[in-house]
Amino acid sequence: MMCVICKQDEVRLGKATVVFERAGTTVVIKGVPARICANFGEEYVGELVTGELLQTANAAAVAGVQIEVREYVAA
Ligand SMILES: [Zn+2]
Repeated sequence: MMCVICKQDEVRLGKATVVFERAGTTVVIKGVPARICANFGEEYVGELVTGELLQTANAAAVAGVQIEVREYVAA
């Protein structure tokens, strides 16, 4: 894939930290598999993983969690 910011192809596989904030709930998920641009460190998380993370964030919001920090676990 190509980085949309610098239009070059130098992305490597790595781990990202993703933060969701909504309605007073903050969910921080560490160790998310991502492609990371070698230039400026832009992180790209795949659609499938993003969907999983959104479900996690929604569940936390419904449960009334204020802040939660967790490690990514592959579904
Ligand atoms: Zn880039």
